[in-house]
Formats: sequence, C-alpha cells, structure tokens
Amino acid sequence: MTHTILVTGGAGFLGSHLCKRLLDEGHAVICADNLSTGSEANIHALRAHPNFTFLRHDVTVPLEIRADRIFNLACPASPVHYQSDAIRTVKTSVQGAIHMLDLAKRNKARIFQASTSEVYGDPERHPQTEDYWGHVNPIGIRSCYDEGKRCAETLFFDYHRQHGIDIRVGRIFNTYGPHMHPDDGRVVSNFILQALRGQDITIYGDGGQTRSFCYVDDLIEVIARMMDSDSCGPDPINIGNPVEITIRELARRVIAQTGAKSKLVEKPLPGDDPLRRCPDIARARRLLGWEPKVALDDGLRKTIAYFETVLSKDGAAS
Ligand code: NAD
Ligand code: UDP
Repeated sequence: MTHTILVTGGAGFLGSHLCKRLLDEGHAVICADNLSTGSEANIHALRAHPNFTFLRHDVTVPLEIRADRIFNLACPASPVHYQSDAIRTVKTSVQGAIHMLDLAKRNKARIFQASTSEVYGDPERHPQTEDYWGHVNPIGIRSCYDEGKRCAETLFFDYHRQHGIDIRVGRIFNTYGPHMHPDDGRVVSNFILQALRGQDITIYGDGGQTRSFCYVDDLIEVIARMMDSDSCGPDPINIGNPVEITIRELARRVIAQTGAKSKLVEKPLPGDDPLRRCPDIARARRLLGWEPKVALDDGLRKTIAYFETVLSKDGAAS
C-alpha cells in the first residue's frame, strides 16, 4: 500500500535519505524544510521525481496539508547548529511537535518523532535502555536540544493518551554518512574533512569519551520498519549501532583510512559533553527484527568517498 508522506526536515542529512527511500518504495513524498541546516543539494536528485514535492516551510508555523503519514525530523542536530540560536531550537522542537501532532490528528495520520539519545543526557546507566529516565542538565548549553526533545516526547505521549494519535518515537544515537553538512561540527564530518585537508584533528578533551556510530543506511532501515509496523507500539525505541568506541580511536581509524599526516590536537571539552553513550537495542531487535549491518570501517569508507567528491566539486568551483 502506498501513502502520502510528509517528511519535515527532509532536506537534511537523515531526511534526504529517508525521502529517497520512501520514493523508491512508491510513496508520494512532501518534504517540508526551512533549509536552515539542510540544503538544496541534498534533495537535488529527488526534485525531478514526479512523486516528490518540496515545501519551503518552518515547522514553528502551523501547516495544513493532506498526508497519511508524517515523519517529524525538522530540528538542527549538531551541537554547533542547535546552540547557535538556542531559543529557536526549543521552538522548533516544541512548537514543531505541536503543529505536526495537530496535523496528524486532523489527518488521522501515523506520526514518527526523531528523538535522540540526548534525552538520556550524560547517562549514569550504561548502556542506555529505554526505561532509563536520563541525567540531563536543564539549564546548560545542550539543554535547548535535550529538553526540547524531551518535551517533544512528552507531547507525543500526551497526544497519544488524549487523542489516540498513532505515534512512533525513535531515539536516534549518533548517525553518520553522506549528506552530513560539512560545516556542522559533528565529529565524523570534522575528522574526515580535517584529514582530507591535511589539517590537525581536533580532539575535544582527552578523547576518552565514547560514542556509538550508526551508518545512515542502517538507521533509515529501522525508521522505515518502525513506521510500517502495526505491532511495535508507541513506546520509544533506541535506534543506533551498539558498537562503542572512544573519540580518539575514531580519529585513528579516519587517519588510517585516509592516509592523512594530520596530528591529533586536544581542544577544551564543551560543557555537558556526555562521557559515554551506547544504545541497548534489545527492544528494536525484538520488535522489529532489526540489526545494524554496516561496520564502522565500511561506513567510514563510504563517507570519506562522499566528502572527497564534495571537496573536489568545491575545488572545481573556486
Ligand atoms: P540536519 O540538521 O541535517 O537536518 C535537520 C533538517 O531540519 C534540516 O534540513 C533543517 O533545514 C531542517 N530544519 C531545522 N529547523 C527547522 C524548522 N524550524 N522548520 C523546518 N525545517 C527545519 O540533521 P539530521 O542529522 O538529519 O537530523 C534529523 C533529525 O534526527 C533531527 O530531528 C535530529 O534531532 C535527529 N537526530 C539525529 C541524529 C544524528 O546523529 N544525525 C541523532 C539523534 C537525533
Ligand atoms: N568532538 C571532538 N572533535 C570534534 C567534534 C566533536 O572531539 O571536532 C567530540 C565531542 O566533544 C563529543 C563527540 O566528539 O564528545 C561527538 O560529538 P558530536 O558533536 O558529533 O555529537 P554529540 O556530542 O552530540 O554526540
């Protein structure tokens, strides 16, 4: 069965891969994006598709369209971007969730929320399971994102309880791959670009903090499964790759693959930077039969190839 699907944030990193996947499955896709951190380039190849519509729209403003499924991804995701206008980030998460939930209510649509591992903050329980309530600073520099996303989850569950909205909540852990914004300051894009440009690699703190990196194809697969499942229920599901590595080890792998001569240089650790992060994905395995398939070295290879192309185009343009 095909659907008319709204993807907010569809011109961003994850959103553009999701739009492509949904078009490939035969759905009609409406991508709504204000292009603040997303780009025309990410959706350029989709523009010619007869089932693709682009709407320049800000989710802090109500939207009236027909759709029977909604993926709510609109929100800057990198610390550099979401901290650059923190108030706007809260508005995007909270007002955006309200507007999309109201739209889901009017359309009787199933709706997916792109939530985040940041709802766990700097976790005291490891690895993180969905029943952990988190350890979040409500007034720090990451709070606009963390608390905005926590409030969005609250709204999803209140609309579910009060209005019977059919919700899906995916808690996304660090994901990487082609279409990441080159300047968004996230660790994978930073390290690859620094290595390809022969610059120093910036390790924040001593690099002993950990993350667990999921390749974008694996992530899009599980998001699609969540939305297609009639039985997985409304409860949040951790989605990410449970292989945990230190940031220093990530730098080592990027250097090994690019053959760069870059040095590692330590910079101050930003405030509230979580020390460890790793998803327990037992729920996703059990409810969706999903398992990430792409090993970090393979995903890095594809992402490095993507950024090489981006840099060669930039070079050709200048
Ligand atoms: P991204 O910044 O590449 O994409 C976000 C998109 O939302 C962009 O296209 C941007 O222009 C758009 N946007 C931002 N504010 C908007 C607004 N007010 N109105 C309309 N559009 C707006 O980030 P991403 O990595 O693709 O993340 C997508 C979603 O997944 C986000 O909600 C993010 O919080 C969540 N997420 C991502 C990760 C990750 O590792 N990539 C991890 C956890 C959660
Ligand atoms: N980081 C780093 N160097 C960079 C960018 C990030 O050492 O150039 C660190 C950052 O401090 C954090 C980790 O890498 O500990 C992941 O950062 P990112 O911004 O990608 O995501 P998040 O902190 O939201 O998980």
